[in-house]
Amino acid sequence: AHWPSSGALRVENLSASYSSDGPSVLHDLSFAVNPGERIGVVGRTGSGKSSLTLALLRLIPTEGKVWYDGLDTGSLNLENLREGVTIIPQVPELLSGTLRRNLDPFDQFGALRPSRAIVLLNHFVFSPHIDDATLNAALRDAGLFALQSSEDESRLTLDSGVARGGSNLSVGQRQIVALARAMVRQSKLLILDEATSAIDYKTDAIIQESLRTQLPKDVTVITVAHRLQTVMDADRIMVLDAGCIAEFDSPRAL
Ligand code: ATP
Ligand code: MG
Repeated sequence: AHWPSSGALRVENLSASYSSDGPSVLHDLSFAVNPGERIGVVGRTGSGKSSLTLALLRLIPTEGKVWYDGLDTGSLNLENLREGVTIIPQVPELLSGTLRRNLDPFDQFGALRPSRAIVLLNHFVFSPHIDDATLNAALRDAGLFALQSSEDESRLTLDSGVARGGSNLSVGQRQIVALARAMVRQSKLLILDEATSAIDYKTDAIIQESLRTQLPKDVTVITVAHRLQTVMDADRIMVLDAGCIAEFDSPRAL
């Protein structure tokens, strides 16, 4: 079973800063997101969109409460928390090795601490690596093959090498690989922080199309977007302004 199982999210009085004595960059946010809802987050640069994605996973110091599936994340360890939710940052880091390694959750012993490896090792004994057909389907669904022609000699495949951090892939390609990984893991809550200037319009459109058409309907998706247009078909749009929620409503109402 995958956790969280429904993707419901509730946030109460969430504030965040980048250091424990630093200025607050999010001020007392409270909101709830229903399972399967598609949320767009917009706001000018510096309004706190990326900070919100980090605060939801407690990757920066936070105050206030966040519940996933009614579970208080304050009582979960960070590792469990980050396992159940996929966050795709503006510039994703990939593991060095192959694309396959980046997609297959059972192929990542090198990246794990020993205690985790033992837990996974048990898993591994009973569940073989995820097969290539599944991994390729995820790459396709995430939009990688829409981005590259099959005649292209330099097209990415499962065997393509990935340099440290993913530096030999474009930021857009990395976001697509991270999305494919979320599909393989069957995350129920996906938070995508769209790349800014580093991504071209076509890649952006492909990613949005993948989120819209290839994810199961019950997956909750929060997309940080730089153009309102990108998220006009979201169920609701949150407008952030200087670390506060200025609006949170359906696109029609805005
Ligand atoms: P953009 O559209 O440019 O991605 P954003 O809405 O994602 O902007 P944030 O990155 O969340 O904005 O920034 C919100 C506030 O937090 C800003 O005042 C910014 O200066 C501050 N901030 C962001 N990253 C850091 C950091 N690593 N250390 C300290 N302050 C930061
Ligand atoms: Mg940002």
